[in-house]
Amino acid sequence: MIGVLALQGGFIEHIHALDKLGVANFEIRDLNDLERNSLDGLILPGGESTTIGKLLCNSGLFQRISDLIRNGIPVLGTCAGMILLAKKIINDDRLYFQSMDISVKRNAFGRQLGSFFAIENFEGIGKIPMTFIRAPWIEQINDASVQILCRRDGHVVAARQKNMLVTSFHPELTNDLSVHQYFLDTF
Ligand code: GLN
Repeated sequence: MIGVLALQGGFIEHIHALDKLGVANFEIRDLNDLERNSLDGLILPGGESTTIGKLLCNSGLFQRISDLIRNGIPVLGTCAGMILLAKKIINDDRLYFQSMDISVKRNAFGRQLGSFFAIENFEGIGKIPMTFIRAPWIEQINDASVQILCRRDGHVVAARQKNMLVTSFHPELTNDLSVHQYFLDTF
């Protein structure tokens, strides 16, 4: 079962992507959701990282999910989800799970030209459509075990390390399900 963090942001589109792939899933809103279901993988969706961060603390989910990630549960973090996993956010003092050896920049493509569509090569998949919405990018990679999977204009917009896969863009907002499939196949 894949659990999708459903506190704020674009979680429903991830649920739909998993449904289309025929993968059992559930929404995580509180600790009871984790008690009731077995968890084989986790998706941290896009949204507003500061808001999701607050709601994680208020719901009591923060420490539990942090432990799950540290213990190796496969996790896909998209956009704000990438920010939540980063060990460093270069333009924000806040920090969340601090589990991936990357430094990210929030709203890196600029607030005005914040949203755009692109087609780029994703390592191991090929050329795929990508939707960016006030997206972060990975400014710095801080460990050799982080593998770069995709760049846009020279900036790293997808990477993986250990049990973690992150994308700056929203793979759940196109009809292309290959990033979800990649996550399910690889981790
Ligand atoms: N700009 C948002 C943040 O900093 C992320 C945007 C998104 O998830 N689409 O949290």
